[in-house]
Formats: sequence, structure tokens, C-alpha cells
Amino acid sequence: ARELEWANNPPETMAAHKARNGPICRTRFPPEPNGYLHIGHAKSMNMNFSLAFQKLNVPPEHRRTIFRYDDTNPDAETAEYIDSLRRDLEWLGWKPERTTYSSDNFGKLYDFAVELVKKELAYVCDMTKAEMEAQRELAMKRAHARARGLDPDVEAPITDPDILPGRNRNTSVERNLELLEKMKMGLFAEGQYTLRLKMDFESSNPNMYDLVAYRIKYTPHPHAGNGWCIYPSYDFTHGICDSLEDIDYSICTLEFETRREPYYWILHALDLFRPAVYEMSRLNLQYTVLSKRRLIKLVDTGVVRGWDDPRMPTVSGLRRRGYTPVILNSFCDDIGATRSANVVEVKKLEQTARLALAATSRRAMAALDPIKVVITNYNEQSDENMVYEVQNSPTDPEAGVHTVMLTEVIYLDSTDFRIEDSKDYFGLAPNKAVGLKYYGGNLVCDEVIEKNGKIVELKGHLDNSPDRVKPKTYLSWVPSNSFPCEIRVYNHLFTVPEPSDLWEDEINPDSEQVFANALIDPSVAEVIDVNEIDKWKSNTALQLERFGFFVVDPDTTFDSKTRMGWIVLNRTVSLKEDKGK
Ligand code: ATP
Ligand code: MG
Ligand code: MG
Repeated sequence: ARELEWANNPPETMAAHKARNGPICRTRFPPEPNGYLHIGHAKSMNMNFSLAFQKLNVPPEHRRTIFRYDDTNPDAETAEYIDSLRRDLEWLGWKPERTTYSSDNFGKLYDFAVELVKKELAYVCDMTKAEMEAQRELAMKRAHARARGLDPDVEAPITDPDILPGRNRNTSVERNLELLEKMKMGLFAEGQYTLRLKMDFESSNPNMYDLVAYRIKYTPHPHAGNGWCIYPSYDFTHGICDSLEDIDYSICTLEFETRREPYYWILHALDLFRPAVYEMSRLNLQYTVLSKRRLIKLVDTGVVRGWDDPRMPTVSGLRRRGYTPVILNSFCDDIGATRSANVVEVKKLEQTARLALAATSRRAMAALDPIKVVITNYNEQSDENMVYEVQNSPTDPEAGVHTVMLTEVIYLDSTDFRIEDSKDYFGLAPNKAVGLKYYGGNLVCDEVIEKNGKIVELKGHLDNSPDRVKPKTYLSWVPSNSFPCEIRVYNHLFTVPEPSDLWEDEINPDSEQVFANALIDPSVAEVIDVNEIDKWKSNTALQLERFGFFVVDPDTTFDSKTRMGWIVLNRTVSLKEDKGK
């Protein structure tokens, strides 16, 4: 009840807010620059830039979203993260009304802290971390007793008033102002003092136990520079910045629900405008983790190559994997906003990708693990030049065509050849005839050449006579002038759909399979070029027949003019859902 009272804006505060905002409805997206954005943030952006307005029936011309760097902890924040956040947001296509930094309000926040001290609603505290923990612990025990209808003085008596309610609560305003000033001037050591809000140790909500508003930290700030050695806490900063920016709806994830009460307590204490707060559930996705703390660990311990490793659930990792803004945003639209915690199936994301990529990516042929085939009757073929037209998109003739030439030496993928044939195997085997894509006729395997027990080459002949065997399938192949290519195929980062607290044991050791000697048909030179590659943008997508949807990786050095250099492709997703896994 008390919380509701704090949440209510007095009519004059509301009127002033309305006067400033007019018909504008404003939200904000406030990431902390302590890591890269992940797909959970994509959901939050989708909510704050779009979905929330739709739900509230705000017409497009009145929608405004502020992009705010919530940068109050210089220990974890870096300029690299600041840059990456902005680029990922832009890549996803969101256009903020403006960009702000919580740290730009450090001066105002300090003035508000002084105001609270003067109102006897804040005090400087010299309790150690351990003492504060003991204080919190005891207050919680007493709250539990109260909740069960028991007497807290019996169940969890206060034995040391220095701990609870604490020895600093009744320090005079003058003394507090002096100490706060000295904190700011850098006269104390880190951890020696904090500024705390004089809230309520009898509350059932531990977030009301005299939150720390300021702590001493001699770390320079990546945005604010060297001017400060005291930094405001998240709880103290967040609501005030929302209010100063005239945010109408402050949307956060459910774990912040218990922080509504201090949010409103602070704004009420300062007579500031109080935005409406909404919580939605966090996005959890199968077979991965969505927490910057854990993602940092994956990067730091070398489980992945970096924040943009294609296995990472980060926006930059997903981009490198071949996911596009269209895919990510339509996925976020689909999952919508709920208040129930759940884990979204990864195949939902993959299916969204297939649908989008099938329509937009250009077709090519490749052999991941090539096996050489010499066509012995190549010169006897009447089909003069053996050049075939291939539709760039299997479904859309408007997307144009490219050509592919059947050469005297071709390569198949090694999974398309077996020494031992069997009924359910459609690929090539000794003395077996199989169709070749685009050529239309058959390839018959006549000879297998082995060296040291390894198959090094096949010899075969072409057969397009009218009475040839009708093949069960037509294999994809690549010609002899194909480009060498490295193809990276990915699997889940974790072996279990919901990584537990022992998540480090659940990391999948086989999350990446590299085909370093792959070959790709030369038509891709029309679409792959080193000068077009940009790690902050979406790169060229291909659908490799049989193998799936792929994207050009920024490690690619291939120059389409000289036709020299290295092509690296990442598999975004297989062509069809893999029932086996
Ligand atoms: P993390 O634990 O990954 O650091 P966070 O909540 O601390 O996440 P912030 O950068 O502070 O991350 O969050 C910016 C915004 O994105 C917040 O409003 C937060 O609620 C939202 N957000 C973060 N993770 C998710 C998620 N998994 N699902 C939905 N929203 C999220
Ligand atoms: Mg955070
Ligand atoms: Mg966090």
C-alpha cells in the first residue's frame, strides 16, 4: 500500500510531466556497458522501441525511445563496450530519440544526494561489508518472523544496535554533509564510507534496507573521465535518470520487481516525477546462457574466440553466424512479452532464420570434405560446353541466374561416396550410377584409387543415354576451378537445454566443426569480396545445396578481382530441422 502511494504522482507533478511531454510517449533502453548485447537485449529493445507502444496504442509519430548507457560502475565498463552497444543497436535498426549517459547526470545525482541528507533521508555510513551483511541478514530474519505472525524480538532479537538499525543512522545533518563532501574530495579509502538511504529495516522487502546510494571508487570512468571518486549505485541512479528524461514507461525484467519499492521511495523523497514501471520476463534460450557475467567468462577462458564468436548468443555473435535484423526482430515479435518465466526453444529461432534466409540467400554448390572424381569419358560428351544455368534462388526466378561448368575433374562431398553400398544409401558407390545435379545425366563409378588405405580419387564416366538407370537422387558437386574455402559448422554451445549452476561442466566440447579443405563453386566470386566485408554489418548469405544456410565470415580475404585469398563461411542453420539432435 505504501509502495502504491509512493508510485502515485501528485497532480501537479503529473501535470508538469504532461506539459513537457505533450502527446509524446517515451520509453528507454538502458544497457550497462559492461559487455556486449545479447539476444535478451534484442527482446528488450524490441519491447522498448516497438511492442510497448503497440500495446499502449501509441501512434508511431508519438513514440520516442531514449538509448541510455547505464554507466555507474567504472570497474566493469569500457569504451569498447560503449561502442559495441551503439553499433549493435543501430544494426538492429532501432533509432533512438537521443543517446544519454547516466554518468552525464553525476552532478545532478550528487545534488540530489545532498538534498536527501538535508531531509534526513540519507546518511554516511562506516559499516564494513561484513557488518552490512549481518545487518541485512538479521533484518530479513525479523521480517520472516513477522510474516509468520511470530515475534521478531523472540525469533531474531536485536543484540547489537550498532549493527541493526546501525550506528550511523542518527548522525547529524551537518556531520553527514561534511563526510559526504570529504568522500567526494577523495579524502577516504575505498570501502571506508558509503552514503546510504534511510529507508525501512522493518520492511518485508530487503531492497528497503537502507540501500547504498554512493560508494568510493578510485577508478576513472570511461565516459565521465577522472572527475569522480564516488559513484552512485544502480538503484539510486536508475529512477532519477528515468525521471529526468521524462520517461513514461520504465520497462525492466522481472527480477527487478522487488526494486520498484526503492525506485518509488527515492523519487517520492525527492519530489520527482514517477514513471510507470513494468516488468516482463527475461528471455531464456535453450542450450545457451544469457547473462553478461557468464558470457564474459566464456570469452575470458577461451571457450569461444570472442564476443562475436558465431556460437555466442550475443547480437554480434548471431550476426557473425548469419542472423539478420529481420530474423532477430521477427523472433522477438513472435515470443512477445510475457510475465511468465520460460525457456524458449532454440528451434524457434532457427525456424525463423530458415524462413527468412530461404527467400534472400543465393544458392551455390560446395563440398565440405571433397573427394576427387576424374571423368574418363569427358571428351566424348557431345554436350559441347557443359555449362549450366542455375537459378540464384530456388523459389524466386526474379533473383536471376548464374552458371556452373561441369569439368573433367569434379569433386563430391565425401559423405556422398561409400565403398559399401546399401539400400537406404542414395550416394555413389563402386559400379553404381547416381545423377549429377544440373547435368541431368548419371555419373557411374568405375574405379576407386586408394593410397595408404585412404581413398584419394574416383574414376567414373558420364551416362546420359536414354536407357540409363533412373537415379534415386542428383548429387551436388563442384568443378575443378572451385575456390578453396573454410567452412565452419556449429552446434549448441552447451550439452543441456538449460545450463545449471555447474554450467562450466556442461559446455559442449564439439560446438564447432571446421572443414578447412572445403571447395566452393566459382560462381560465388560474383558475390564474395573482401572489400564488402564488415564485422558490424550483415555479410553475404549463401544457401549451399544440401548443407544449409551460410554466411561469409569476416576472416575472409578473398578478392573477387584477383580471385585470390581465403573464403571462410559459417553455417547459420541447416536446411531442415535436424530431428536427430
Ligand atoms: P545481464 O545479466 O546480461 O548483464 P542486465 O539485465 O544486467 O543483463 P543490462 O545491460 O543492464 O543487462 O540491461 C539492459 C536492459 O536489457 C534492461 O532493461 C534489462 O532488463 C534488459 N535485459 C537484459 N537481459 C535480458 C533478457 N535476457 N531478456 C529480456 N530483457 C533483458
Ligand atoms: Mg546489468
Ligand atoms: Mg546483470
